[in-house]
Amino acid sequence: MFIAALQKTTLLDYPGRLACIVFLANCNFKCPFCYSKEIVLEEEIKNILPLKEGDFFDFLKKRKGKLEAVVICGGEPTINPTLLSFCQEIKSLGYKVKLDTNGSNPVMVKKLLKENLIDYVAIDLKTSKEKYQKLTGSLIKNVAEKVNQTLSLLKESKIDWEVRTTCVPGFIDKEDILKIAQWAKGAPKYYLQNFRPQKTLDPAFEKVKPYSSQEMEEMRQIASPFFMSCDVR
Ligand code: SF4
Repeated sequence: MFIAALQKTTLLDYPGRLACIVFLANCNFKCPFCYSKEIVLEEEIKNILPLKEGDFFDFLKKRKGKLEAVVICGGEPTINPTLLSFCQEIKSLGYKVKLDTNGSNPVMVKKLLKENLIDYVAIDLKTSKEKYQKLTGSLIKNVAEKVNQTLSLLKESKIDWEVRTTCVPGFIDKEDILKIAQWAKGAPKYYLQNFRPQKTLDPAFEKVKPYSSQEMEEMRQIASPFFMSCDVR
């Protein structure tokens, strides 16, 4: 497990719980608007001094009774073959686990759900199905179908979860939002996130002007009828 970084406290990333965030390096997507190139691009990853797993678990042991949950994000956590045992160890210490995923590995998500190793999932729906391959820069065959399988697993599960979309001008428009909302219908919560033109994987995206608050609200209104809860954040 390549632990690229640890954020020791967050009140924002696990709904209603005090959590830490563990960032795992590497991703099977190469979204051009990604803000995390330091843990996505191989040439950047090699400059990272990873946190040892033992040190991470020592940290969790010391914080027992103070922290309640661990958010596992990336990169893409599910591409790590040892994610199951990693979650098992976190759970054995009494923590809740939230997984942030791009949804590309339904096989791993199915195992995690079956073993009760995740309590909350945030899945990104990057765009509408037909634009998926291009936008994510993914070499995975039929990537939208893989994401769809993960989405179906979550819809059938008993855990709490949410769907998120980063609204990147030029890639996500109102038509896409409607298609994504129809696709994700049945999710308990849907969040639209505005794009931030900062240290993007493709530098050209640093020149893209984000949507205005008014435009974000208009997209929220399009998605809103499909969900119990739908917000911009
Ligand atoms: S935005 Fe997420 S899925 Fe896309 S490359 Fe970055 S970490 Fe991977």
